Amino acid sequence: MTKLPALILTVDVEEDNAWLRDGARQTKNAAYIGRFHELCLRYGFRPTYLTTSLMAESPIYAEFARGVAQRNEGEIGLHIHAWNTPPIKPLTRNDDIYLPYLHDFSEDLISDKLDYVIEAIRTNIGVTPVSYRGGRWGLDGRTARILASKGITADCSITPHVNWDRHDRDPDAQSAKGLYYFNAPEQPYFLSEEDVTKPGNLPILELPFTTVPPKNAIGKWLRQRVIGNALIARLCLLADPPRSMRLIDGNEQDLKDSLNYVLQSNLPYAQFMIHSSEFMPGGSPYTPDEESVDKLFAGIERLFVSAGNNFVGQTVGEYRNDYVAALEKKTFKEAS
Ligand SMILES: [Zn+2]
Repeated sequence: MTKLPALILTVDVEEDNAWLRDGARQTKNAAYIGRFHELCLRYGFRPTYLTTSLMAESPIYAEFARGVAQRNEGEIGLHIHAWNTPPIKPLTRNDDIYLPYLHDFSEDLISDKLDYVIEAIRTNIGVTPVSYRGGRWGLDGRTARILASKGITADCSITPHVNWDRHDRDPDAQSAKGLYYFNAPEQPYFLSEEDVTKPGNLPILELPFTTVPPKNAIGKWLRQRVIGNALIARLCLLADPPRSMRLIDGNEQDLKDSLNYVLQSNLPYAQFMIHSSEFMPGGSPYTPDEESVDKLFAGIERLFVSAGNNFVGQTVGEYRNDYVAALEKKTFKEAS
């Protein structure tokens, strides 16, 4: 019997409407995550809630997350918005507008900010996180090394086939590069400290985000060149929009394309991503009102129905543990 691919549901649990860049840091969306969780449970899926410190400090979210962990209904991982995570030491003219990556900060600050989130999750939720996703998909080798030293064993920040533009960078800031993930593997791999898009020896298993490659040569050419060029980024969106496993503005075709791509390419899992703030009316630009949230939930339910027979649910940490166990078994067999 061939093994079914996994369906990994990841939620970036973060403040309300981070897209506004207003520095408001509200966490009202904590009250809306339960609806998503109930839907997952109904279909037998256990999500991974990648949690920021702001949300871990919300009593409503902390109570929800403690219940999830105690009943083993999902996993609590770590997500970080470096610009609003203590210790706060401004890096740009206005970090709430320019949203620097964690790896833009000094090594000491990277370490201290991660400690802060880990401690917030431990204290308020009673769990030590092992899974990670950087804010705005940010990751570099130095951060990966530090994450490993803090017990993180799985990451899902890498988006193959996609480079990320930094046209919104602070012109005065020193470090303001984009993310060059275009050539990263689609299959899981252990991260390298030298280059996070290449396999290496760090004890963190990378679970790349499910993204469908460009359709044609023009699409490929455009998508590789989006760094620092807003015009090309716009052309790219028109000519060959990146299709990844997200549900934006009710576009369920992206989800279908992603599931089909995983099955056709024999990839070991499909990884879905959403922000907790999208569950709240007015919590994100994609869900301005109740109607759009209802539409989102209907789309997620259709995803669960269509994935039901072909995928089995797993959390990020579980997937990592199974992967390592299979690898050890293989090594043991080869050695004996
Ligand atoms: Zn985020």
